[in-house]
Amino acid sequence: MKKETKFIFVTGGVLSGLGKGIAAASIGAILRARGFKVNLQKLDPYLNFDAGTLNPGEHGEVFVTDDGAETDLDLGHYERFTDTALSRKSSVMSGQIYNNVLNAEREGKYLGKTVQVIPHVIQEAQRMILEASEGFDVQICELGGTIGDYEGVHFIEAIRQLKRIVGKENVFYAHLVYLPFLETSGELKTKPAQNSVRDLKSTGISPDMLMIRADHPIEKSLCDKLSVFTDVPVEAIIPMPTIDTVYRIPINIEEAGVGRYICNKLGLPNKKANLKDWEKLVGEINSVKEEITIGMVAKYMANWDTYASVTESIKSACWRNGFRPYIKWIDAELVEKQGESLLKDLDGIVIPGGFGNRGTEGKIAAAKYARENKIPYLGLCLGVQIMTIEFARNVLGLKGANSTEFDENTPDPVIHIMEDQKFITKKGGTMRLGSWPCVINRKSKAFGMYGKDKIDERHRHRFEFNNDYREELEKHGLLIAGTSPDKELVEIAEVEDHPFMVGVQFHPEFKSRPLRPHPLFDGYIKSIAKVKARVKEKV
Ligand code: GLN
Repeated sequence: MKKETKFIFVTGGVLSGLGKGIAAASIGAILRARGFKVNLQKLDPYLNFDAGTLNPGEHGEVFVTDDGAETDLDLGHYERFTDTALSRKSSVMSGQIYNNVLNAEREGKYLGKTVQVIPHVIQEAQRMILEASEGFDVQICELGGTIGDYEGVHFIEAIRQLKRIVGKENVFYAHLVYLPFLETSGELKTKPAQNSVRDLKSTGISPDMLMIRADHPIEKSLCDKLSVFTDVPVEAIIPMPTIDTVYRIPINIEEAGVGRYICNKLGLPNKKANLKDWEKLVGEINSVKEEITIGMVAKYMANWDTYASVTESIKSACWRNGFRPYIKWIDAELVEKQGESLLKDLDGIVIPGGFGNRGTEGKIAAAKYARENKIPYLGLCLGVQIMTIEFARNVLGLKGANSTEFDENTPDPVIHIMEDQKFITKKGGTMRLGSWPCVINRKSKAFGMYGKDKIDERHRHRFEFNNDYREELEKHGLLIAGTSPDKELVEIAEVEDHPFMVGVQFHPEFKSRPLRPHPLFDGYIKSIAKVKARVKEKV
């Protein structure tokens, strides 16, 4: 008999931004720690087809899967917490659902019928949920937005009906709410949470579990009160107060009995969860003493989520090497105006991915500063392009060198549009995307870090290293440390006479995990440690 997949639907109420993605990912972590095969899926109400065309400054990072989907940043949390590579099926936006329905309508699939939200849109959402779940023991689906949002209604109805379709013994609804703190009376209030559960119930969904967020400790009496008003058993009301690190959450919710309760409810064998690695990580986080300061020279300053995977990768590598990370945000445009003074006292410089001209001259100045002052530098996608432009300008003396992305008429286009990107006019989903192989030069630092010469990394870009300049750049000390197997595309470059100046055309941050920091980030932090030790020796 075909094994049935169990479904956990995670909804949210009261406010957005409560960490629903982290909550869903943490449930994934404790189920995976029991040995279950777990998939996570994000259901996003946006009418976009995918996250690729959303503004990362507003919406957060665009996460890329191995199979090249441009997704919501929650997929990054899912991959980090469950150490699993997800596929494009894990990211569903309303735009895709409507697109499929409208294509089917044009093909004549619904001939004679009126096409409607109920049943057609809902059935397509259900099909996408079920299709993604094939082969998994458990699928956790997080619904974006909050209960009561007009635009999420079709997903709510789809997941309500699924209980009947897949059997009630296979479905579990967890609802995340927030308790605001009232300064005047010094207490947490439950009324908005009660109202949110009432809103959820009015859609026909009764939550099996409440996960409650608050910025203050949550007394047991509040859980009792919520139980009385919502009918959720008190053992399924899980306090999730704000804590020092999100990586403690799997441990906390396991201690609160979440795994046992879910397994019982879904008829899953309640195996013991092995959370030793998470405990080790939290131990490492708490024991670090020395701080290192990494300057992130970037464009978007207002939203931490914009570079979520990069900051998590830096943090994980720091903890693993016994350091407390301090990530200093440096506005690339300010570097243009105020110059190098903004870059003083940094242990390392990171240039993350980016698009468009704004702030690029500041980033080039930061790369120059890092090269000349031997500050460890890691360039991610745009970061390797910046590094190459700077090297061409200031080492080769090609003063006008640039990327054609920033200056179409540059006399020296050391970075130019990829051949197969030249005639692309549609913006959505057309970049070089997803996992591509790379062969590493055995003489490089990269080889030392990866410990092997064949790797696969995730990409998201249109521009690349211009091979016309390769020989000259190499002659002057820019090592081509990695290329595509046919040697046509430069994937990794390194400045030779430097403790660590490495740029990669891909995004290693998408494959870094808190329990398994990525070798490049690990190597980067180790090089900083070495430089710091040398400085101490001199003092
Ligand atoms: N804008 C650059 C390109 O398209 C870099 C992209 C990125 O950093 N992801 O090639």
